[in-house]
Amino acid sequence: MTTFSDQELRAYIAEELAVERSTLLEHQLATDERLRDQLRELLGDNDSASLALRDVWQRGRLSCPSRSTWSDYLAGGLGDGLRQYLQFHLNDVGCRVCAANLTDLQQQGGADADQRSRKFFQTSVGRLRAIHD
Ligand SMILES: [Zn+2]
Repeated sequence: MTTFSDQELRAYIAEELAVERSTLLEHQLATDERLRDQLRELLGDNDSASLALRDVWQRGRLSCPSRSTWSDYLAGGLGDGLRQYLQFHLNDVGCRVCAANLTDLQQQGGADADQRSRKFFQTSVGRLRAIHD
């Protein structure tokens, strides 16, 4: 595991870290709880510099998981590391884009369930008719 300094993390959040290093960092975020803690701490600082950084980050600078990944997340089909990373992305980064995406997916899931139960209901009615005819 690579160690990143606070300075590097701040540069990363501000999108001033070299691309290769950023890629490595994002990769490691998915598996490295300590690194997530380190970032969380930087984002949690209440000095104005940190607040500004957090603001930049929340505007979606950190690459977002894809919609299908969120869909897997809802279905409970993700491994621990990735799931924790998604929770981190959602709760600590406070990514509004992904939060909206997730709500949307949840509503869609609800609609699917509705359709299923309606279909089941129709089938039951059909069966009842068949019995009564
Ligand atoms: Zn996001």
